[in-house]
Amino acid sequence: MGKNLDALMKKIQFCEHCGFCRSVCPFLEASNMEESVGPRGRKMLFLSLLEGTVRPTPRLAQKFYMCGVCRACAVKCPQSIDVSDISVQARNMIIKANALNPFMKKVADSLVKGVKDGDIFGSANTKAKWAENLSIPKNSETVLFASCMDTSMAYGELLVDMLETFGWAENTMMSLSSRIQILGVTKFLDILLEGKHKLYRNSLVNTAKLLKMLNVNFSYMGNDEPCCGAALHTYGLLDEFAEHAKKVHKIFKEKNIRRLIVHNPICGGVLKDEYPSYVDGWDIEVKHVVEVIAEAIKNNGINLRLPEPTKVVFHDPCYLARFMDVIEEPRVVLKAIENLELIEPPNNKRETKCCGGGGVELIYRDVATRASINRVSELNTGNPDIMSSCCPVCALMIKKGIKNLKLKASYADIVDLTTSSMSPSL
Ligand code: SF4
Ligand code: SF4
Repeated sequence: MGKNLDALMKKIQFCEHCGFCRSVCPFLEASNMEESVGPRGRKMLFLSLLEGTVRPTPRLAQKFYMCGVCRACAVKCPQSIDVSDISVQARNMIIKANALNPFMKKVADSLVKGVKDGDIFGSANTKAKWAENLSIPKNSETVLFASCMDTSMAYGELLVDMLETFGWAENTMMSLSSRIQILGVTKFLDILLEGKHKLYRNSLVNTAKLLKMLNVNFSYMGNDEPCCGAALHTYGLLDEFAEHAKKVHKIFKEKNIRRLIVHNPICGGVLKDEYPSYVDGWDIEVKHVVEVIAEAIKNNGINLRLPEPTKVVFHDPCYLARFMDVIEEPRVVLKAIENLELIEPPNNKRETKCCGGGGVELIYRDVATRASINRVSELNTGNPDIMSSCCPVCALMIKKGIKNLKLKASYADIVDLTTSSMSPSL
């Protein structure tokens, strides 16, 4: 199983060369490079790769790894051609031809090991720490899928910062990161990273508290929670992803899990939109927590009020809007909060623009930073007090953009905004 290459090829043949996809590609805009790193150029290069008229090389890899797998091109394309699919398939061919440069190879090795161990940042032993005092049951048909990105993104932020500072030694940095994984010393970093952990893990704590308050019967798998393997998929490690997805499905089935509630839309998007192509009989429902909150607001109403008038702009994560198809729900939640003025940015809903993440932040950091600055400039159009979203990678990149542009606005997750609009007892 897996995405069908023939079906993709058939679709590509209908390309009209109109270039609409070019106009929305955030990384073509941020890289200021030639057509070959844009969606239309990628599609042409992919055809040449299949025909054998271009060879897989590290230089060619750059063209496909400078894609954030954001699907903006697919929304704009009159033929619905999804160049993110093309990028993932091309990456897979490049990996199989052993044509990654040493740094990218190290990233691949580190992802394979991290996913296998249960946490892409190598901190499987501390990933359940956020839930320590919450007394969440362990067995239920509905599971809060906490995701290693939500629990461990502080390590990801540290890694990106270190790669930015010591870019000249990126191979050493990646080796160091793998060694940290192997030695399991990430727990010693926790003291240093306390503030950063709080930012990412707080959204999970608040998600759990909200679900309890809404009387949702749910459990948390703790250290038994597997990584969904999203990073394997986007990196093009498709054989490893296919094998891993089947294992994850088996684990869920053995535990009689029927429904997953995610906070991280990257895991949600991959579980909802990619797993059915890779796992026979995938029948597990996947919901984002904003869907659950919006449902509760619609059915019963919840009193939500911010202490003072606040202008909030909402950034739709690509994976929430275009993979999970969740668009109206965040707006239902934010509009229900008294004293909150919701601002819609340019490029919103299904046409949202990537925050600059999508894995590009690890490999082409300058381009990713420029993409985050571009997106945050758009988010700042209405002069908001708060930029809100609900994805750990968007949080990382929006914070980066705010810092680079020296803006007065701050970042807050939609779940954290919701809980801070409730009674102080929560
Ligand atoms: S928007 Fe679609 S049809 Fe137009 S150039 Fe891009 S891939 Fe081809
Ligand atoms: S998926 Fe996003 S980053 Fe990749 S080619 Fe399409 S628009 Fe560009």
